[in-house]
Amino acid sequence: MKDDNCIFCKIANGEIPSATLYEDDDFRVILDLNPASKGHALILPKEHYANLFEIPEDLLSKAAVVAKKVGTKLYKGLGAEGFNVVQNNGEPAGQTVFHFHIHLIPRYKGDTVNVSWKQGKLTDGDRQEILDLFK
Ligand code: 5GP
Ligand code: ZN
Repeated sequence: MKDDNCIFCKIANGEIPSATLYEDDDFRVILDLNPASKGHALILPKEHYANLFEIPEDLLSKAAVVAKKVGTKLYKGLGAEGFNVVQNNGEPAGQTVFHFHIHLIPRYKGDTVNVSWKQGKLTDGDRQEILDLFK
């Protein structure tokens, strides 16, 4: 299914041109227009799924393989020293385009990329509440 109002549907399906690194029946991998670092790329499924909770498991598994394949080429080819795989869901998590995508972000010593959080404390109440979800 495609969403007529979704820019990533149009890019993934070739209706809008993009700097494409990789393409198969299910995905297109493109360079991010506003990269966090040199080589920042996005894995876009050709079908429209808003987020992690909508994308089917088999497609998600294939996306992980694409992340490894394209990520390895970026990592080695660009001489990166680290690598982040990031996937945002929902506005509070930083998602701005509501078509599932995976960020591939090569990292270099001293770069300005910020993928971090302030460490908190796991309370007894939270631990129990969360463990109870999985009983
Ligand atoms: P999000 O914040 O939703 O996880 O990531 C959206 C990403 O898509 C951002 O890194 C942004 O720079 C990128 N982006 C948004 N619009 C376009 C576009 O039209 N073309 C490309 N190549 N990247 C885009
Ligand atoms: Zn879409």
